[in-house]
Amino acid sequence: MKKVVKFGGSSLASARQFKKVGEIIRADKARRYVVPSAPGKRNDKDDKVTDLLYQCYDAAVEGKSYKKILEKIKSRYEEIIEGLDVNLSLDHEFANIEENFANKAGRDYAASRGEYLNGMIMAAYLGYEFIDAAQVIFFDEDGNFEPESTNQELKERLEHVERAVIPGFYGAKHDGSIKTFSRGGSDVTGSIVAKAIHADMYENWTDVSGFLVADPRIIKNPEVIETITYKELRELAYMGASVLHEDAIFPVRKEGIPINIRNTNRPDDKGTLIVESTVRKPRYTITGIAGKKGFCSINIEKAMMNAEVGFGRKVLEVFENYGISFEHMPSGIDTMTILVHQSEFEEYEQSVIAGIHRAVEPDYLEMESDLALIAVVGRGMKASRGTAGRIFSALAHARINVKMIDQGSSELNIIIGVKNADFEGAIKAIYDIFIATEL
Ligand code: ASP
Repeated sequence: MKKVVKFGGSSLASARQFKKVGEIIRADKARRYVVPSAPGKRNDKDDKVTDLLYQCYDAAVEGKSYKKILEKIKSRYEEIIEGLDVNLSLDHEFANIEENFANKAGRDYAASRGEYLNGMIMAAYLGYEFIDAAQVIFFDEDGNFEPESTNQELKERLEHVERAVIPGFYGAKHDGSIKTFSRGGSDVTGSIVAKAIHADMYENWTDVSGFLVADPRIIKNPEVIETITYKELRELAYMGASVLHEDAIFPVRKEGIPINIRNTNRPDDKGTLIVESTVRKPRYTITGIAGKKGFCSINIEKAMMNAEVGFGRKVLEVFENYGISFEHMPSGIDTMTILVHQSEFEEYEQSVIAGIHRAVEPDYLEMESDLALIAVVGRGMKASRGTAGRIFSALAHARINVKMIDQGSSELNIIIGVKNADFEGAIKAIYDIFIATEL
């Protein structure tokens, strides 16, 4: 059994957190490859080391004083080293970093040091080999991740290494310059390592016990999702539910390697298992609810629209010309509605309307702003009757007016459009009918 275990910033923010992580790793021999993030916040007012590194580098490049910030960063690591009682000095590393800052080694280089140094501490603490991600994770000249060369190198390198720490978030171009993934990218590193070693499981340890059925800012103590498929996760993540970096699913998805989201502060919780597909029945008919505010709709009417070949294409072309992507497009016989992000649309509003008039000469055009979209997602919906009925009766009971309904042909989700002001109420009503009443 081989597992890759990735720990997020809050799991490694202090010596106390490091010790919890150490216990977790030692509790299971399969946890052989460790991918750490940089130290995160110890409390609400604290800073993430990655943010401090960006600040520090920017100050250094602008010729402003940066020594204080660098000292602050150094003291974060020293506190961890002392608390863990490991025999390690980072003096030499920090002298190096300072020199490289002076030589303008780049923002990516600066940010990557957070993971690099944390990885060194972690390796010393666990007695694992340290492998610098710059030697095994590759990017091309333009800064795009190179999956093939990385996979090959990692495979060869890790074949004979029983246990190793590989810092997350960064790699290097072939000229040796450091490149990072986007923020939160240690999740991606974990996934890449899991693929290369054919791991049985990729454990992603964070500070929540998995994906929640609904946003905890709207629903008090929502249930945790036990098992979710990649497809369901995509739908929910797109609608704003975030625990895992979006790109982290791609390397493992086709390899049949499940991702298990776990909580470092509650290691006995099972967390959420993310899988390609499963015969496990979801506990409730729906897997999760997520949504976003800030949409608007453009409603177009024209008699005999249905008989006009190319009508839809001409309308969508207008949006395309202004670089506006549409979210949904429900239609009737003589009507068509386009839902777009309000912020993307506002700037071009009048030009788009003029464009539609010219392209298809509608009888009537109307817009509505401040709409929210809610996705009710669940692989279980396909096999059960009455899901839509339950959603709409719950919304009717809550006196919420439904503005739009869209069910994809996969029957994996039902999208509901409501006024922004009804957003929270609608999510509560849906949660109540599917989850709270079935507990
Ligand atoms: N430390 C980096 C960030 O804050 C990467 C990560 O934590 O995954 O974005």
